[in-house]
Amino acid sequence: MFEESLKCVECDKEYSPDKPRFRCECGGALDVKYDYKAVQDRIDWETLDKRNFDHNRYRELFPVVEKEHLITLGEGGTPLIRAEKLGEELGLNNLYIKFEGMNPTGSFKDRGTAVEIGKALEFGAEEIIVASTGNMGASISAYAAKAGIKANIFIPNQVPDIKFRQMKKHGAEIHQVDGDYAKAAKKAKKASKNNDWYLMGDYPYRGEGEKSVGFEIVDEIEADKVILPVGNGTLMHGTYKGIKELERLGMVNRVPEMIGIQAEDCNTVAKAYKEGLSEVPEAEEVDTVAGAIACADPLDGKFALEAIRESEGFADTVSDKEIKEGVDMLAEKEGIYAEESCGTVLAGLRNNLEKFDKGEVIVLVVTGHGLKT
Ligand SMILES: [Zn+2]
Repeated sequence: MFEESLKCVECDKEYSPDKPRFRCECGGALDVKYDYKAVQDRIDWETLDKRNFDHNRYRELFPVVEKEHLITLGEGGTPLIRAEKLGEELGLNNLYIKFEGMNPTGSFKDRGTAVEIGKALEFGAEEIIVASTGNMGASISAYAAKAGIKANIFIPNQVPDIKFRQMKKHGAEIHQVDGDYAKAAKKAKKASKNNDWYLMGDYPYRGEGEKSVGFEIVDEIEADKVILPVGNGTLMHGTYKGIKELERLGMVNRVPEMIGIQAEDCNTVAKAYKEGLSEVPEAEEVDTVAGAIACADPLDGKFALEAIRESEGFADTVSDKEIKEGVDMLAEKEGIYAEESCGTVLAGLRNNLEKFDKGEVIVLVVTGHGLKT
């Protein structure tokens, strides 16, 4: 609708959005640019308030053009739950949880998938491919089934059985890779070229869909700080980008500080943040209970680092033990059953309490449902 170009984060080269493109020629990640003036003429809060509270409420800020390519399973519109008991225990008056486990396939991935599938259909894709630690594969399998196209999923060794069954049930073809996510991602990229399958994953359009996490947070509350788990960095990038876009449209006055938490064993973005590096280093041996964010070579790591620095947030790591405690506390105190990778955000908050003020509005993004563990 209002998509103008794809711009490289490394070398600023711009590409027309008319053809599929996943990375810049230089290898850099691409960011979707819009005609914000035209969007501004189309939407304000009054317009949006007449629409349903769901992902497509913000459709002018997504790149899918034709209505017939909009595939939806009712993603987004997830609850923002006030965490009173946890807040009391931690001495915080305004602690909230954005529970993304309430999405159709049980994780935030459905937001990105809705946009990616739409773009795949626009480009005429008949078969798609993705590498996944499980959640994305499950999400893409469901949306591919709905869209009537075939999904090929490359998965690493350690994928929970439930996610595997989800993919199978939706009719996806599963290719098991002997190795970790980074290896699966490389193999998927190669197979995409060899077979002319449309490549999905943490590429430009997925981040666009994940912006709706940010849209929804500021739609509901004036947040001071947003805490997210960081794997490939796409959710951090998307959430921040969404909020910045609304700021640019004059719809938001305050941009929250973005805080990224990773598992100790996969400290890519956190390491770059703490050591003041301009590039995000690869993690070597990745071994953590937070499998969903075990991305040794994060595709959108640089974007995530930028979001954290520009918003004056911070990044940190937590141990597997702290992650598990975080999951238990969410379940026991707030009735929220989250998957392991989500224990990171509560653990990151607990370890850094001195950085938070009692009255601040803090949002923890809990990205996936515990039933998927
Ligand atoms: Zn470039």
